[in-house]
Amino acid sequence: MQPDFRNFTLMKNYETTVLTTPYAQPDPFGALAQPVYHSAAFEFPSAAAMSDAFCGRSPRHSYSRISNPTVQNFERRVARYTGAMSVTALNTGMAAISGSMLNLVQKGCNVITSRHLFGNTFSLLSRTLGQFGVEMRTADLCNLKETERLIDENTCALFFEIITNPQMEVADIAALAQMAHSHGVPVMADTTIVPFTAFHAREFGVDIELISSTKYISAGATGLGGLILDYGSFDWSQSPNSLLQQQSRRAGKKAAFTARLKTEILTNLGIMMTPYEAYMQTLGLETLDIRFRRQASSALWLAQQLTHEPRICRVNHTALEGNPYHELSERQFGPLPGAMLTIDLATRDECFAFIDALKVIRRATNLFDHRSLAIHPASTIFGLFTPEERGEMDVLDTTVRLSIGLEDPADLLDDIRQALESLSPALQPIPSPSSLSPTLP
Ligand SMILES: *Cc1c(COP(=O)(O)O)cnc(C)c1O
Repeated sequence: MQPDFRNFTLMKNYETTVLTTPYAQPDPFGALAQPVYHSAAFEFPSAAAMSDAFCGRSPRHSYSRISNPTVQNFERRVARYTGAMSVTALNTGMAAISGSMLNLVQKGCNVITSRHLFGNTFSLLSRTLGQFGVEMRTADLCNLKETERLIDENTCALFFEIITNPQMEVADIAALAQMAHSHGVPVMADTTIVPFTAFHAREFGVDIELISSTKYISAGATGLGGLILDYGSFDWSQSPNSLLQQQSRRAGKKAAFTARLKTEILTNLGIMMTPYEAYMQTLGLETLDIRFRRQASSALWLAQQLTHEPRICRVNHTALEGNPYHELSERQFGPLPGAMLTIDLATRDECFAFIDALKVIRRATNLFDHRSLAIHPASTIFGLFTPEERGEMDVLDTTVRLSIGLEDPADLLDDIRQALESLSPALQPIPSPSSLSPTLP
């Protein structure tokens, strides 16, 4: 009955890499963990040294909105493990997404993406950036030809989430990237849902990887954070954005994105990660893979068990046999595609009653906390969209999202079962499976 946590191979040297990455300057006391440099400003020995730091001629820290040693230590560890050319830590996942988008777009440009997006990202592209003349073009990213038709000379990027939430749709990332690159379009992916220990974005052609480190990396939702990973794989002189073209001439074709991000966007918006948060997230990084494997194994095991529950109309998890994305998910993410699953009940009222009856699983938003969490996405994360907009995004009233934590999975199954048993006998007809199952290209 119990899941086997030993079955899944550890990403090569993950913990060794993270635990042996030294921090930049030795501490006078030989501290093994890097001290937290909770200082807004850094002092200089001379006016010339100050000028050198401010003008980028020396790597010294000057002010923590621009850079900070504790934050840099966190960024370096992520870079060392992932092989990213540059890593930037920000104060939320949305800061990583909005900062990258602002770095990339210009009036008259378009971004090609899916209708299946994290709610705030959808709103950022359609409303916040839309008002400045940036066009959000949506396609079914599982349909390569349809996606390709939307590309034109003003396309700034192709952007997607690797497993959409809560629809759990999976596109063929390597095929999308190859197509986008053939048109000179960079590929940006929000990979929050599967950590970089399991999904190696660069190998699939992702140029810019965006992560809400609030989720797996923060180790139990201790705080908020975001990461931008630039693999240095795209030639930004091809961008329709004239400011990125300028940066390409100044900083180099492959370095332009990060150069503009660090010298303009990050400092102008003030969205840098704080030192204490970087310290907490560095701790989280050290146990990331081990926690992920435990939580993701439990999620898969629970998904398998829940397919036998008669009150559940559908269990959605991409590693389940029979899931339309099963093969693609395994090829891209391996046997454990994350610790999230969704279940569909007969009605919205049943979803509410089910969530109210949970005793171990907590009623909270967020993903990949150490605690298991349940939420009804349509009435919360997507609650401010109109029913028509939710319909277009395939966010159903009958879906409950579960994020699986570190508890004993058998206790979680018992909790779900008792909550299902507490539901009154079915009042409404159960939707036909065809209205629920995601469509394939
Ligand atoms: C949570 C989340 C975000 C936003 O991250 P914050 O840290 O809450 O700003 C973006 N994308 C995905 C896929 C997420 O799950």
